[in-house]
Amino acid sequence: MKVNKNFDNLVSNYLFAEVAKRTSDFIEKNPDKKVIKLGIGDVTLPLAPVVVDAMKEGADELGKKETFKGYPDYEGYEFVRQAVSDYYKSFGVTVGADEILITDGAKSDSGNIGDIFSEDNVVLVTDPVYPVYVDSNIMAGRKIIYADSNERNGFAAMPDDSVKADIIYLCSPNNPTGSAYTYDQLKAWVDYANKNDSVIIYDAAYEAFITEDNCPRSIFAVEGARTCAIELCSLSKTAGFTGTRCGYTVIPKELERDGHNIYKLWYRREATKFNGVSWPVQRGAAAVFSEEGQRQIKENIAYYQENARIISSAMDELGIYYTGGKNSPYIWLKCPNGMGSWEFFDFLLEKANVVGTPGEGFGENGAGYFRLTSFGDRDNTIEAVERIKKVLCNR
Ligand code: PLP
Repeated sequence: MKVNKNFDNLVSNYLFAEVAKRTSDFIEKNPDKKVIKLGIGDVTLPLAPVVVDAMKEGADELGKKETFKGYPDYEGYEFVRQAVSDYYKSFGVTVGADEILITDGAKSDSGNIGDIFSEDNVVLVTDPVYPVYVDSNIMAGRKIIYADSNERNGFAAMPDDSVKADIIYLCSPNNPTGSAYTYDQLKAWVDYANKNDSVIIYDAAYEAFITEDNCPRSIFAVEGARTCAIELCSLSKTAGFTGTRCGYTVIPKELERDGHNIYKLWYRREATKFNGVSWPVQRGAAAVFSEEGQRQIKENIAYYQENARIISSAMDELGIYYTGGKNSPYIWLKCPNGMGSWEFFDFLLEKANVVGTPGEGFGENGAGYFRLTSFGDRDNTIEAVERIKKVLCNR
């Protein structure tokens, strides 16, 4: 018996464990201090009422013989896929219901999609990066190369024609940097992928936070994307499904590589290893895309967006360089006064009793940067920002 030795190549990601440890040590030593956490990537507002009602109805339907449901269709129920397709139409993108598969979320999808690709492909990720893309490809034994996101390109890495990559992970709006690609920037990636016979795995988990018209909500808004891209999306951050679990993949029927249809490979993978999302959750997901559902979830998104605006305007006042905040719940800032990521973490915790996330946990280019999130409570966000302003002005 042999285990998958690729696991030996994983770098132990101690980031969140270390953040939790330093925070709990501080709280233990300072029980009178109110610590505010702006480091979390999880939502805090509850599910929209229309979604809860649909889930309750779904549960009731399971309790009656006439409406009971067993295994769902592998690709998700047609009415949910149609609702997703109509949602894309609402921002001007045409994808067929038969090009959509309902899944349990973008984290699993971004790892699982690798099943359909050979392990000798070269994978390109942008640095800093959502760690799942890296770790899942290390587990599969693939070579990983990095495209630099940095201050010079506004933390939005661009393709380099002298580099050959087979699989490209893009995330826009980006976690952790909050930057969102413009149409022209995405077009450059699409052109690169079509020219090099690569596939783009496009993570649109934060699309609902986009406010600027020149930043597409979907890669399929970009001409040429249908022959090179797979889109992953999720209801986690848009509708508070982090605990409930529902997402979707979009694969255009014309996407072919190496003599194979990519939709068919992914469908086969899902049919073999995944038995679908539960009926109450799919009922809830469909409700997200109803007119009332959209109105209700937009209220929650607006709440987080206002938190992001509050944090960003504090950075503006302090003259601190940052990306994100506008099209994203994340604010990615340069640690002031040349501090390192962990140095700034300790400084903020001790002086302002505020917790954020050190950038170097997301890759080499994150060193010296820091992530704050807008998923917290409004009053706490305001208080945290006031404290940050105070300690940085008094330094
Ligand atoms: N993709 C990105 C870029 C994320 O930041 C996250 C969660 O933080 C996910 C995917 C996970 O999404 P899901 O909850 O749908 O698995």
